[in-house]
This record gives sequence, C-alpha cells and structure tokens, in this order.
Amino acid sequence: MERVFNFAAGPSTMPQEALQTAANEMLMFEDTGMSVMEMSHRSKMYLNIFNETEALVRDLMHIPDDYAVLFLQGGATGQFAAVPMNLLSGSGKADYVDSGNFAHGAMVEAQKYGKIRCAASSREDNYTYIPALTPADVDPEADYFYITTNNTIFGTRYASIPDTGDVPLVADMSSNILSEPYDVTRFGAIIAGAQKNIGPAGLTLVIVRRNLLGKALPITPKIMDWKKMDENGSMLNTPSTYPIYMAGLCMKWLKKQGGVEGIEKVNIEKANLLYDTLDNSSFYRPTARKDSRSRMNVTFTTPDADTDAKFVKEAAACGLVNLKGHRLVGGIRASIYNAMPVEGVKALCAFMKKFEGENA
Ligand SMILES: *Cc1c(COP(=O)(O)O)cnc(C)c1O
Repeated sequence: MERVFNFAAGPSTMPQEALQTAANEMLMFEDTGMSVMEMSHRSKMYLNIFNETEALVRDLMHIPDDYAVLFLQGGATGQFAAVPMNLLSGSGKADYVDSGNFAHGAMVEAQKYGKIRCAASSREDNYTYIPALTPADVDPEADYFYITTNNTIFGTRYASIPDTGDVPLVADMSSNILSEPYDVTRFGAIIAGAQKNIGPAGLTLVIVRRNLLGKALPITPKIMDWKKMDENGSMLNTPSTYPIYMAGLCMKWLKKQGGVEGIEKVNIEKANLLYDTLDNSSFYRPTARKDSRSRMNVTFTTPDADTDAKFVKEAAACGLVNLKGHRLVGGIRASIYNAMPVEGVKALCAFMKKFEGENA
C-alpha cells in the first residue's frame, strides 16, 4: 500500500522526510549506540537534541530572548487551566473571545480560577466567523485577553490580531502555529498542542514573555507553573523526549521550505485551490464566512448529509482520507497543515470536481 493523503485535523500528516529520518535513526541515534527514546533526559546526548529543537522554534518564529520557550505535556487542554493559574493573580479578571469549541472550553475551564468575561462570541451562529473586535471590547483591568487564532473545528481564522493595549494577549495557536508569521512580541503568551503543525502528540509548546512569570496562583501544580518550568529548562520532571526530537525533525524540514515565511506562501496557495473550487461550485457550500476563512481547516458541505457521507467514503477509496467533518459542524473538513503537500490538495480538488459531476 502507498501512503495516503491524510486530511486529519490532528494528529495529522507529518513531513515524510522527518518520518524517514526518524526511521533511519530509530535503533541508534548518530554514534550514541541507542535510540533517542532510550536516552536519559538529562544526558548530554539528549540535551543536544533538546537544545537544537528549542533553537529551531526560536529561529523559525523569531522569538526574542525575553520570552521563555517551554516544552510541556497535558496538551492545549492542560494549558486551558494553566493560563489562568499562571496569570490570573492581579485583578483576577480575564477576557475571552468565544470563537469556537476550544475557545469555549478554555473559557469554561478558566471560570474555575477567577472572574471570566466573554468579550465577544460567534456561538449563536455556530461559530461561522471570527467576532469583530475593537479596543473597546478589552477590559483594561483584565489580567489577560484570550483568543484562539485558528478555530480547527469550524475552519475560521483571525485575519488580524486584536490590539489589546497594555492587557497581555494570550493565544491558543494549536492549529496554525508555524503556518504564517506572527509577531511574537504582540503576545504575552502562546500555547499550542504539537499534533497539528509542530510534531507528534504528547508535546505542548508554551511561549511566554518572562515578565509575566512569577504570578502563579498558590494552588498551581508545579508542573503547570511556567516560571518553575522555565527555571528548570522544562525538566521539572521527564519531558516528552521523543516528540521533542520529532518536532525538531519537522522543524528542520520546515526550515528547508523557507521557514514560516516560505510555507505561508504554499499554505495560501493550497487554501486558494480549495476555496476557488468551492466558490466555483453550486454543489458544495463552504461553512465559514469569507472574511474568516482558515488556511488550515477548510470546512464545507454537499447538498445533504447522505451525500457528505458518500463523499467521505469515495474520497477514502481514492487515497484521500479523514475528510469527515467534526460532529458539531457535519459535512466535510479538509485539514491542510504545513505537511500536506500541494499535490494532495490538487488531488482533492480533482476528486471534488469529479464527485460533483457524478452527483449534482
Ligand atoms: C486540537 C486543539 C486543541 C486541543 O489540543 P489538545 O492538545 O488535544 O489538548 C485546543 N485548541 C485548538 C485550537 C486545537 O486545534
């Protein structure tokens, strides 16, 4: 069997080159005599790998030295609790934008730790767009203002980053980190699960401005305390050693694609191919509002649910897999993260046209 084009939302397709290198190095990494999985996390041989991965994140995202880069566990979902625990000790108030299911979940989790306000929401419209934001939507007393830059389930993306003035902006970038350049200095903290655009599941990336550290609520478990983790090089306990190595391999691949700036061009090309196919059809209906369209998750429907199911089934038979939409949206979702090649998207567009011809 050949490798398929995998449109899964996460865990998702990874660069073949990174997988091949990992396969080659599985039994023995360089001249160490052992697999990366077998190394002590405190050994010199492993720390070389760890430090190289951190340097790659800093290089690709142009992260200044006054920001900590942490390699944690517990997923973005763990950070839904860690964000308020680490930041909600000033006024005890925070603002959240409810732009999707993960954004909503983060807001509900934070309510356990302080006074959480929903600053804007598109929940009533099944999250088909990113709510418009102005500086007047920001509570100047809030300890932070929270957004989700790309809404994985609904296929929406912030076309611009809100200006929150002196209130630190916190972003869940799980599904579009490393896909387009962001000015990290505009954020107080960035959180991301690795399994979409960074590497395999089991690793969680946190990027935080160091002057926000040291404010954790006393109840904060030490493995969720960003300051303690920063002081200990993300090694208060055993980190996800192998996913960190794999993330490094994926980022080496990304660097060869021209880094984040280079892959952004490819991502725009891929998204345009799909949205053009949708916009030139009266058979398919894109579900996200045009001004909020994601470049990573393209969501659409056919005329009815039975045809959606037929689409997903026949696409899979052509080697285009995991296209079923999330149950909250239905229809079809094509996740086209960094590692999805243009050829995969072209194959999907060709299939869409053929399927339309046969079923319209
Ligand atoms: C996938 C995803 C999450 C959940 O990540 P976990 O690592 O599974 O906790 C949270 N937020 C967004 C935007 C996501 O895409």
